[in-house]
Amino acid sequence: MTGIRIEVFTIFPAVVEAYGDVSILRRARDAGLLDLRVHDLRLGADDGHRSVDDAPFGGGAGMVLAPRPLFAAVEQVAGGTAGLARPLLLLGPSGRRFDQQAAEELAVLPGGFSLLCGRYEGVDQRVADHLVDGELSIGDFVLAGGELAALVVIEAVTRLVPGVLGNEASVDDESFGAGLLEYPQYTRPATFRGWDVPEVLRSGDHARVARWRRTQSLARTLRRRPDLVAARGGLAFDEQELLVEAGEVELLRQHGYDW
Ligand code: SAM
Repeated sequence: MTGIRIEVFTIFPAVVEAYGDVSILRRARDAGLLDLRVHDLRLGADDGHRSVDDAPFGGGAGMVLAPRPLFAAVEQVAGGTAGLARPLLLLGPSGRRFDQQAAEELAVLPGGFSLLCGRYEGVDQRVADHLVDGELSIGDFVLAGGELAALVVIEAVTRLVPGVLGNEASVDDESFGAGLLEYPQYTRPATFRGWDVPEVLRSGDHARVARWRRTQSLARTLRRRPDLVAARGGLAFDEQELLVEAGEVELLRQHGYDW
C-alpha cells in the first residue's frame, strides 16, 4: 500500500503536530500511509525577532504575512534533500471550495501536496501569485488562521487513502460518496427512552437492510440537500420507485417529480 505525503507551512507547527499525533492521523502515520511534514514559516525569517509579518501598504487594520520569509521558508524546504511536495496550496477564503471531490482529487496525487497556512490579515498577494500553485477555502467564513483549514483538508484526504480506514467499503457508503447523504445509523440499545431502532435493521435480512438504507439516503438527500440530487442529474426512475414504496410521494412531488 502506498501512502500520501502532505507538507504544511505554518507559524504554529505545534497546532498541526498535536492534531496529527492522535487518532486516525497518528495511526496512518504509524502505518506508513501518511507522511506528514510540518514546517515552521519562521525558518524563513531573517531578523532577530523571527518576524514574518508587516503592516499593509495603503493602511488598514492588522498585519500581513510578508513575501520574503514565506518564499525563503518554502525555497529552503524545496532545496533540501527531500524536496517539496507539489502542488503547494494556499489556504484562504478566496480559494476553490474544498469538498469531497477535491479531497478525492488530492488523495490520488502521486507525489502528495503541500499546504500554506495564512494568519493575521492574510498573505502578501505576491505569495498567492508567484509562490503557490492554487488556493483552497474550506467554506464561506473567515478563520483566524489556516491551521484548522489545513487539518480539515489533511483529515478528509487521509481517510481516503487505501488502508487508512479499517473497513474499505465504508468510504463509498458515506455522505457525498455517491453524491448522496448517508442513511441514519443506530447502535445498541434497540430501545432507548422509548425510541426504537427501525425494525428492518434488526431483521438480519441484508437485502432489506440495503434497500432501506438506499431509500433513506435518497429521501434524506432530496429533503435536506436537493442541490446534491440536482448535481447528479436528479433521481433515476427506480430510485423514485423506492421512495414511492416508502410512502414519500409528497416529497417527490414537492421536488417536481410527476407522481
Ligand atoms: N483578510 C482575509 C480575507 O478577508 O479574505 C482573511 C484572512 S484570515 C483572518 C487569516 C488566514 O486564515 C487566511 O490567510 C487563511 O490562511 C485562513 N483562513 C481564513 N478563512 C479561511 C477559509 N474559509 N478557508 C481556508 N483558510 C482560511
